[in-house]
Formats: sequence, C-alpha cells, structure tokens
Amino acid sequence: GGFQSMGLSYPVFKGIMKKGYKVPTPIQRKTIPVILDGKDVVAMARTGSGKTACFLIPMFERLKTRSAQTGARALVLSPTRELALQTMKFTKELGKFTGLKTTLILGGDKIIATPGRLVHVAVEMNLKLQSVEYVVFDEADRLFEMGFAEQLQEIIARLPGGHQTVLFSATLPKLLVEFARAGLTEPVLLRL
Ligand code: AMP
Repeated sequence: GGFQSMGLSYPVFKGIMKKGYKVPTPIQRKTIPVILDGKDVVAMARTGSGKTACFLIPMFERLKTRSAQTGARALVLSPTRELALQTMKFTKELGKFTGLKTTLILGGDKIIATPGRLVHVAVEMNLKLQSVEYVVFDEADRLFEMGFAEQLQEIIARLPGGHQTVLFSATLPKLLVEFARAGLTEPVLLRL
C-alpha cells in the first residue's frame, strides 16, 4: 500500500519523493485510489492528515492528459485566503515536475480561490468555468460556516457535465450532506 503501488506517473511520483514522503498517510491510502478511479468523493479529513495531497495527486494525474481546452481545468475552493495561498504553494511544490500551471483566482491550468471572490471574478473577468473538469471543496464545513452555500451552488451550476468533484471536510453537518447529495454524482463517503 505504498505510493509506488498506486500506478502514478513518474512526474507525480518524483514530486512526492522530492517532498520526502515515504508512505501514504491513512486518509491518502483510502482516498487516492478512489479519486484516481474517477469517482466523486466526500472525505472526512482534518488538517494535518495529509488531505491536501489526497486531492492534488489525483488532480495531477487527471490533468496530465492533454486537452484542447484553453481555460482552467481544475478548481480548488478554499475557505480562506491563507489556506488558498498555502494550497497554491503546496501545489507548486508537489506538482513541480508535472509542467502544470497554478494560479490564484485568475487563469492558468488550475485555479485556487475563495468562493465569494471567485463568483465576483467569474462575472467580472469572464472566467471560463466551462473548461473545469476537476473540482475540490477543501475544508467544506468551513466554507459552509462562512456562509458560502449560495456561491458554491452557483459555481456547481456553472460547471460543465462530466466533471469530477471531491469534498474534504473535518465534520459532516446535515447541510453539507444535503449539498453533496444534490451537487455530487453518487459520492463515495470515506472516513477513517
Ligand atoms: P495537510 O493535512 O494536507 O495540511 O498536510 C499536513 C502535513 O503533512 C503537510 O506538511 C504535508 O506536507 C505533510 N504530508 C502530507 N502527506 C504526507 C506523507 N505521506 N508523509 C509525510 N508527510 C506528509
């Protein structure tokens, strides 16, 4: 059950080695194969569990196939600017050998943004959500606590069919379960 048995491509594996990770954390062992399989996932995971790599590693694998799309192909929604910045830094480090571009809010191959700001930007800058095929709701309970439910629904409504959605949350309040049931496609619930 190591990283080498996950069937990862060399640039992604090399990024993991460069970060110095020897073995996957329990939540990584549990979620990465299911997300790699293309399924929508709701995962209960806290900060410190290695959750960021859980959604980044399959994201890199998905984006390595070339696309005619010119807009962003993956979107990570973070509850705060601090987490968005931290996730962007982590994405650049772990994805160092993938050749993918990461951008905070605007353009690039992937976007990392806070929802209120994203909706604002989407309208103002005509951001092309139409090309997004992989979406992450990071610390989803906090996104909800901060009152972003409406914006999150708006973002989901703008996404093209066939996209994969993964949701990470420390807790799963009723509202969040309802959101996942309505907005995700047959989500697999994973917890430790
Ligand atoms: P996170 O829960 O995503 O905020 O990650 C917490 C910390 O664990 C970060 O410093 C990561 O770089 C680190 N980390 C993530 N996965 C692993 C792993 N498999 N082995 C060792 N450290 C890891």
